[in-house]
Amino acid sequence: MTTEPSAEPTTLHPDTVAIRAGRVGDDTSLAPVLWATSTFASPTVDDARRMATSVGADRFYSRYGNPTVKGFEDAVAQLEGAEAARAFASGMGAMSGVVLGLCSTGGHIVAQRQLYAATQLLLQAVCPRFGIDVTFVDGTEPGAFAAAVIPGKTALVLAETPANPKLDVIDLDELGAIAGPITVVDATFATPVLQQPLRHGVDLVVHSATKGIAGHNDATLGVVAGSRELIDWLWGFAVLQGASASPYDALNATRGIRTLPVRVARQSESALALARALEGREGVAEVRYPGLPSHPQHELAMRQMSAGGTLVTFDLAGGLEAGRRFVEAVQLAQHATSLGGPETLVTHPASTTHVNLLPDELEANGIGPGTIRVSVGLEHADDLIADLLGAIGAAAGG
Ligand SMILES: *Cc1c(COP(=O)(O)O)cnc(C)c1O
Repeated sequence: MTTEPSAEPTTLHPDTVAIRAGRVGDDTSLAPVLWATSTFASPTVDDARRMATSVGADRFYSRYGNPTVKGFEDAVAQLEGAEAARAFASGMGAMSGVVLGLCSTGGHIVAQRQLYAATQLLLQAVCPRFGIDVTFVDGTEPGAFAAAVIPGKTALVLAETPANPKLDVIDLDELGAIAGPITVVDATFATPVLQQPLRHGVDLVVHSATKGIAGHNDATLGVVAGSRELIDWLWGFAVLQGASASPYDALNATRGIRTLPVRVARQSESALALARALEGREGVAEVRYPGLPSHPQHELAMRQMSAGGTLVTFDLAGGLEAGRRFVEAVQLAQHATSLGGPETLVTHPASTTHVNLLPDELEANGIGPGTIRVSVGLEHADDLIADLLGAIGAAAGG
């Protein structure tokens, strides 16, 4: 299914849209207003009935919708050039809402192999229990998604770009051209600032807004944007699923959106500087960054993204032990899971998030024993590079 996003066309730059987006028309407060309420009074029975039966009601009961959450949803829709958006309690709330809300028993999903670990588990462990078949493909191989589609059976084609953890890049034009199933992109790593999948004909874009969109490690939040028709359908499922966004987290995310383009621009600049400093450095086996010419899909990345992004992945030559020593040796950066915040975070998947995988499973996920993922923060690039290079030296020295 390919639908053109028919949101109000804007000639404004994303930086400007981010400042104006999601303001509720009748509010004079410049900052988003926190509607910390679970329910809303109805003056008449007819009023309550209208609210209880209208899709997207935001002043009936907060599991259905909430004005603070609505402000955040509108802001994301505007940044993505979408007709509408629905917020969820987390990125996985959004992803499970999409998968379980759009697929039924006997249905089929085509997904790429390189995915966020929890998304992969949802597809591998939960979908089969409901009789939903999943075919995994190498998303970087041209035509792989389309070739795996079974006409009349495939309900969903699911991609993530740039993807966890090696920053593989998926061709959005190719995905958007697939007719029949609903196409979905998890665009968390890029945020709406660096790429807009709907403009390539993709049907739905999903974000863990916990990451760059909220951007300050103070919200757990997800969001899906697309056509009014698809979002209305998802809304119907989301009300039953119950993974509804907290108004407080939505407030933090709308505040985060005001500075999103500035943060992402600065973090991408620092990430490029870091990637360049790491490439060819003693103790570093491989550097993966979409903004480097050495990235296997560099040209594609530069065609569909406005910068290389805020994450850098590299492999330490010293393997597992070097990886463990590295994450304990950093001083400015923090050893923590997540990404997209002001603090630079480092993770060593082989000894933490992916410790239970077998060696061949690690390899299939692109994770080596010495793989390190860096979420580049807002510290000065020189300070950050000095810190990470120092830790690489310490890791190599044992
Ligand atoms: C974090 C993340 C998710 C899950 O989001 P939560 O907010 O943690 O539920 C999904 N996809 C990607 C790419 C992520 O980085």
